[in-house]
Amino acid sequence: MFTGGLPQENVCSADRSFSDLGLSPRLTEALREISFFNPTPIQNEVIPRALEGVDLIGLAQTGSGKTAAFSLPILARIEGGRGTQALVLCPTREIALQTKSFLDALEPTSQLSSVCLIGGVKMEPQISKLRTKPDIIVATPGRLLDHVGRRTARIDRVRYLVLDEADHMLDLGFLPQILRVLELLPTERQTMMFSATMPSQIDRIARRFMSEPEQIDFRPDGRTAEGIEHRLYLVQPESMRACLISLVEQEQGSTLIFLRRKVDAEWAYKQLKKEGHKVDRMHSDRSQRQRVEALASLRSGKKRILLATNVAARGIDIPVIEHIINYGIPESVEEYVHRAGRTARGDAEGVASTIATWKSKEEVRMIERALGRPLPRCTAPGVEPYVERKTTIRGRKIRRRRLL
Ligand code: AMP
Repeated sequence: MFTGGLPQENVCSADRSFSDLGLSPRLTEALREISFFNPTPIQNEVIPRALEGVDLIGLAQTGSGKTAAFSLPILARIEGGRGTQALVLCPTREIALQTKSFLDALEPTSQLSSVCLIGGVKMEPQISKLRTKPDIIVATPGRLLDHVGRRTARIDRVRYLVLDEADHMLDLGFLPQILRVLELLPTERQTMMFSATMPSQIDRIARRFMSEPEQIDFRPDGRTAEGIEHRLYLVQPESMRACLISLVEQEQGSTLIFLRRKVDAEWAYKQLKKEGHKVDRMHSDRSQRQRVEALASLRSGKKRILLATNVAARGIDIPVIEHIINYGIPESVEEYVHRAGRTARGDAEGVASTIATWKSKEEVRMIERALGRPLPRCTAPGVEPYVERKTTIRGRKIRRRRLL
């Protein structure tokens, strides 16, 4: 039995059932069997619109129930046995496997077959499955193109395209592969994209491949009464730096970044300066005068970004800023709350982002307990997220790992 895994804010207490959304009684019954009783908010909105065939951009966090939101309308609309009609592209193998396991759970009812084309495993079993002309392909872009190149997979009859985690799929690393796949697809199709964030340059690219897409924003309103939006970026230890750079690029307002070590502060200073950002830093190797100047230049707007180690920042009157970034989890809950409070003063709104690794899960839980709600998990463009332990639909615990 399904034992959970849905973040609290997505649990739907609405009286609506899946059949109210336009799904057949058989599919609704099959969903019950895997303990999907009520649709989540994203499913509530996406399923009826997707059944009508419109292109959609869904802004949704990991864990919001988007897999079912895009899979169910496809299962409802496809007629089996006509070759591959739906393609779901995912940035990581693990995400692809999760979608595949959802489709598998419903296969006895939908009678629609699917194949999962991911790298790192043998081609042969995938080729054998492809010979049976599966109705749905779930794939990471590289392996899909490999198959298309060898003519073992055909995607020229795809009528439904899903880009999961589109912000990753359309960033520079993946973009050439995605463009190649899009060239091979029929233009007459329904396209759905889901993304945790939608930076404007990605939004522009996304819209080029869609026809009058409807945008639906399901991101939980992370803002507290004080107007602070909390965001948590869980990454692999080696991706911490890339994540920091990505966040600085994404958020354009005045930014205060807290770091534990001065070596990180110096590294970030050099890196950001090289990339043309107006940045200064304060840590224990800087003189008192330099620290005062650094603060003053942030306050006056001469500098946009200030890097500060904990020690240097403690007890100092930090000016009002739009974005706080914790590079590494703060040492205590109080410190987290205090730092977050540096932003969103008065009526202003601000963002408090934390970049952390799986090693900080316990600290994350403590902060969440203090805030009384989960820290929304977010992903930074170009940075593969560390995805936490999840429960499969069959209730077996698995660890989602970085696989690409
Ligand atoms: P996803 O965002 O698609 O990865 O879904 C997150 C988790 O929520 C997965 O463990 C799903 O199996 C579960 N889930 C999604 N939709 C529902 C629902 N309507 N009822 C119960 N669980 C759900």
